[in-house]
Amino acid sequence: MGHSISYYLNKSGMSAVVVDESSGSGQATKAAAGMLGVHTENHIPGKYHEFCLRSRDLYEELSKELFDLTAIDIGLSPFGMREVATDERHVDALKSKYAAFPHLDWMEGDQLRNEITCLSDQVLGALSMKRDGHVEPYKVCEAFKKAALCYGGSLVEYESVLGIEKVGDYFEIKLKHESIQVKRVVVASGAASGRWFTETGLTNPMVPTKGECFAIKPRKAFFKEALFFNNFYIVPKPDGRYIIGATSSPFNVSTDTTAGGISSLMNLAFHVVPDFKQASLENYWSGVRPGSADGVPIIGEHPDYSGLYFATGHYRNGILLAPSTGQMIKDLMTGQQVDKSIKDMLSPKRFEPKGGAIYEYSS
Ligand SMILES: Cc1cc2nc3c(=O)[nH]c(=O)nc-3n(C[C@H](O)[C@H](O)[C@H](O)COP(=O)(O)OP(=O)(O)OC[C@H]3O[C@@H](n4cnc5c(N)ncnc54)[C@H](O)[C@@H]3O)c2cc1C
Repeated sequence: MGHSISYYLNKSGMSAVVVDESSGSGQATKAAAGMLGVHTENHIPGKYHEFCLRSRDLYEELSKELFDLTAIDIGLSPFGMREVATDERHVDALKSKYAAFPHLDWMEGDQLRNEITCLSDQVLGALSMKRDGHVEPYKVCEAFKKAALCYGGSLVEYESVLGIEKVGDYFEIKLKHESIQVKRVVVASGAASGRWFTETGLTNPMVPTKGECFAIKPRKAFFKEALFFNNFYIVPKPDGRYIIGATSSPFNVSTDTTAGGISSLMNLAFHVVPDFKQASLENYWSGVRPGSADGVPIIGEHPDYSGLYFATGHYRNGILLAPSTGQMIKDLMTGQQVDKSIKDMLSPKRFEPKGGAIYEYSS
């Protein structure tokens, strides 16, 4: 998220520096499958759907611009997604979603199996979301990072932010051996963002949620569309890998990948694509999603500290929402108009204890 924000800020003529205690992709970002799941993540139209849609649409232009600036191809897939039902309840839910989003296409099970012949007869129907593709998260992160530098940004890597202090009109960012003075700060530290809420008088809204994935590489390509099921997904990548994810374990920050987690995903995947059993296992990994207590990201200025912003809590949509988040922070800082209902929906103000914050979690 930090690199996307830096990209939009530096492009607009501001001077942004990213401080990152790890190098390259962040912890959740490098674990992500990269789906741009606008319609797997929304059941009805509304402001959140609008925010997701805008971000997905930004990727088309961005992929060209980032390539021109950095020569990195972010792997934007033109093949779309299918949300697939394997039980009648999910069929009903998908039909309701179809009624809410009539521009999507409904497919009966037979129709989908004609198109993707490796699918088992467990498949009962699907919603086709032709414009909701996916990207390579690691490459998106690298491309934003390099492009921000092209626009004059700077980067401090392998350094932890140890403290943030307001000193007059400035913020002092404390690192191990030095401090950096800045006019504005954006906290975009993923699942580790909680302390910056509590240290500034807000309730900790973070729900760190561990997720595990694995990848296989079959000898032949089976399908190109990302398939999203009730409790797992399969995302084909341009290099021939199929990413299968993801488990979900709230308030778990361990980065071990467990045999139990991966075997449960394997069972689910083999049930719908039996041929996957013959594929070679490439690798497996885990990451910690920055969930938020009310399931909505936290993007905006601190209610009491002018110049202190948050951009976190994106849970399982941070890759999808990286462009609209970067753009929104830039718009807020440069005084450009931001839709009031989106601003209110995402505002950190909802975690003000005196405002009667409903959620109280410890870190
Ligand atoms: C298994 C899995 C699958 C996912 N799949 C998808 C998907 O298909 N589509 C999608 O849209 N999203 C997906 N997500 C969610 C997505 O990965 C996250 O929402 C997103 O990456 C969050 O980005 P972030 O920058 O907020 O956090 P991170 O990527 O975790 O980055 C946080 C950064 O903050 C740095 N940091 C933390 N504390 C400090 C400090 N004190 N000082 C300096 N630096 C610090 C860290 O080094 C890190 O680089 C998935 C996540 C997981 C785990």
